[in-house]
Amino acid sequence: MKIPLSAADITEKEISAVVNVLNGERLSMGNAIVKFEKIFTKYTKRKYAVAVNSGTSALHLIVRALGLQKGDEVITTPFSFIASSNCLLFEDVTPVFVDIERETYNIDVSKIEEKITQKTKAILAVDVFGVPALWDKLIKIAKKHKLKLIQDSCEALGAEFKGRKIGSFGDAATFAFYPNKQITTAEGGMVLTDNKNIADLCKSMRNQGRDNMQTWFGHVRLGYNYRLSEMQAALGIVQMTRIKEILKKREIVAKYYEENLKDIPGIKIPENISYGKRSWFVYVIELGNKFNRKDRDKIMKLLRGQGVSCSNYFSPIHLQPFYRKLFNFKRGYFPVTDYVSDRTIALPFFNKLTEKKVIYITQKLKKIILSL
Ligand SMILES: *Cc1c(COP(=O)(O)O)cnc(C)c1O
Repeated sequence: MKIPLSAADITEKEISAVVNVLNGERLSMGNAIVKFEKIFTKYTKRKYAVAVNSGTSALHLIVRALGLQKGDEVITTPFSFIASSNCLLFEDVTPVFVDIERETYNIDVSKIEEKITQKTKAILAVDVFGVPALWDKLIKIAKKHKLKLIQDSCEALGAEFKGRKIGSFGDAATFAFYPNKQITTAEGGMVLTDNKNIADLCKSMRNQGRDNMQTWFGHVRLGYNYRLSEMQAALGIVQMTRIKEILKKREIVAKYYEENLKDIPGIKIPENISYGKRSWFVYVIELGNKFNRKDRDKIMKLLRGQGVSCSNYFSPIHLQPFYRKLFNFKRGYFPVTDYVSDRTIALPFFNKLTEKKVIYITQKLKKIILSL
């Protein structure tokens, strides 16, 4: 048996939508991308959506659209996928890390203000593993210190904070559509904002800096090719028509895990959150404090030996080799992040994961943990 870490949920509907595009006239910059964007403005109740070719591109465009530049500091989390910090480095902006909360793994809002300096221009918070960050507090801090607020919701499509959809907070927000995310376009991302200027700038910059009059050789600013193809947009449209079903399926798989993991001693499973709704992105367990990083790595190796894919979500950003080199980061600088990232394991998680397979995975895990 070989169980992958993730797998996209593609039906005949997605396949025929993509084939229809291929049989049509426009493979890029047609109606599908416009429709895909409209679905997102409706879903998040945002005014503007700009579809791009990855979540990383979406973050990069927001950083540029907000005018962040060399010398500026942006407060963010070290416990995330590396793109949420790299988007700052692209523009020589300095990421200033704030440690995370023990329970939610999200940025610890109580530690943000002590890191604000004259150079601080924005906060970039991440809804890690689909768990909403504390957006009311983040908005308050941003307002008080006149900072921009960026919401990286690349892992959190469908989540809610106090009844309001994730992706609707901050000056701008992002989603991503890599195959392991809640919905996929194979590769893709989205910028959401209520600010017309930000939306116009992002639209222009995704398309080689063209002005929005679409004069093909009127380049008014530095831009990129961050366009999403019509095939990808068509795929995304169908996925979004299935979003309720997809989120429900993920909840059911999480339930299977919960039921089968609760009697394994010495591990912590994801808990319900009181202030909103999580959108299941990955299923991450945390080993108890009698285990260390070596134990964790051994458990992962033994699991893989049984055909169970797993991963150390996340290996923290500040300890990545090139971040260490650039900023001289060391273990101990962000102790909660270090502690958590030494003990977390992401188990296989995708819509089509059956109860039978979850039972297989959890039994193997139990056996391994009890043998240590
Ligand atoms: C997936 C992800 C992104 C963007 O990823 P792409 O692969 O570029 O689409 C950004 N931030 C976080 C937290 C992510 O998980």
